[in-house]
Amino acid sequence: MPHMQIPTLLVDMMKRSVEDDCACPDHAFLFAAEPLPHTLENDCACPDTAYRAQPNLPTAPLYTPTADTHHQPLPANFHLLHSPFAPAGPAVLNHAGWQEWQTFQDGRPLDPTNPLHQQLLEQTLLQPLGGRYTPTSTQGETLTAWLHITNACNLDCPYCYVRKSSARMSEATGLKAIRQIFYTAQQQGFKQVKLKYAGGEATLHFRLVKKLHEEAQMLAQQTGIGLREVVLSNGYHIRPADAEWLKEAGVKLMVSLDGVGELHDQQRPLKNGGSTFDQIQHTVDEVLLPLGLTPDITITLTRLNAHGAAEAVRWCLERSLPISLNFYRPNLQSASRVELELEEQAIMAGMTAAYAAFEEQMPTRPFLNGLLDRVQAEAHTHTCGVQHSYLVITHTGQLSQCQMHLGQPVQPHLEGNLIPLVAAGTIQNISVDQKEGCRQCEFRYRCSGGCPLETYRATGRWDINSPHCRIYKTLWPQALRLEGLRLLKAHGIQFNGNAYN
Ligand code: SF4
Ligand code: SF4
Repeated sequence: MPHMQIPTLLVDMMKRSVEDDCACPDHAFLFAAEPLPHTLENDCACPDTAYRAQPNLPTAPLYTPTADTHHQPLPANFHLLHSPFAPAGPAVLNHAGWQEWQTFQDGRPLDPTNPLHQQLLEQTLLQPLGGRYTPTSTQGETLTAWLHITNACNLDCPYCYVRKSSARMSEATGLKAIRQIFYTAQQQGFKQVKLKYAGGEATLHFRLVKKLHEEAQMLAQQTGIGLREVVLSNGYHIRPADAEWLKEAGVKLMVSLDGVGELHDQQRPLKNGGSTFDQIQHTVDEVLLPLGLTPDITITLTRLNAHGAAEAVRWCLERSLPISLNFYRPNLQSASRVELELEEQAIMAGMTAAYAAFEEQMPTRPFLNGLLDRVQAEAHTHTCGVQHSYLVITHTGQLSQCQMHLGQPVQPHLEGNLIPLVAAGTIQNISVDQKEGCRQCEFRYRCSGGCPLETYRATGRWDINSPHCRIYKTLWPQALRLEGLRLLKAHGIQFNGNAYN
């Protein structure tokens, strides 16, 4: 993603302020991350398809700092601010900018000649005195569909939610699914379709994936609807020819990696218990990267592997691979595996160590959206697209709400507009503004209350905060701090004696 454009003069001012090691009292400035063009791939239907929270931008005679704005100091007298209503990630201000923001404490008018004031308003860091933002939800532009290519897999991961068998999707079922997805997108006014080829292990049936891709491409051209595709894979057996096809076809690849060496093998073994890490490393290093194919890496954290998260992150960063750190969710298949269940302290310690690994190597490309499970930087009201913009098509052509509900379809066949059918299903994916415990949370439009299915499993309720709430509240500020440091580095800020060189 291109960095936010900052006038050269401003960058020079920023550099000078840090090199001088001063508090930069004269030139107040702010910079903020732009919304990401698309999200990291993971197993969910998440945020690019979720409802966006769009605040009204009111005009008023007097303004004051926005309530519930998150603040934390950064090195060299910089400050990070993040309003609950900000369109994307946090803003970073120099000390003078921070002081200027504080002059609004008792309410004051905006100065039209001061560009910082306009930026503070754009970042919703100021609100009308006596008023408040009233964000409205708007449906995302993308209809996402999980195509369950097969139940078969060459691995036997203990947390998998798929009941394994050799069953696979037929070509006729797959083609019908693609047509019905595009029909639904047209009916609902979506501008884009995103297909997730999944399983089981979708690469075991690459010919079917290619066939469905051809059909989807044709329909995308016919309808004028955009198309994005990703293959979700364990990375164990991707042939060079298939990798070349992915690159040529513009189909993304997501690979699961749960640690380095034994930690990965323990959580993602072959059916006979054999090791898989070395083969996946070979796939990435010898097949994908030489072709210029960069897979998104998803790391699923359980109680067993959380302590290895930092090493896995380092392995990815050494290869400049995008990372998504996700939490294990118990399911019907894994219910007896209590040793996998999240243990708060272990997860928080593992994640904190993983964040330290990011800080050591500090990429300049954005990575905030991969740092904390379903928590996302862009303001949104619903955790995922379930009920609104997400379809799961089983290998037999049944329709489900979520990939973790493959065995609980809402409709046994694919007919008509599919959105009303998933909307009427049992999973209730409600707005964070309706969740008890979340309404006043400063992170509500980033976390949105967590995975609804996980909350229901743990509490029997859809309208309450996540069972992982404490983890999110502890780790999200740490993730924001990393984004603040990344923004500083991306904009050429180097601290005296700091390792960013
Ligand atoms: S689950 Fe917790 S952190 Fe997330 S929005 Fe609700 S209260 Fe905030
Ligand atoms: S309900 Fe949970 S598991 Fe299913 S798509 Fe939403 S966030 Fe993901």
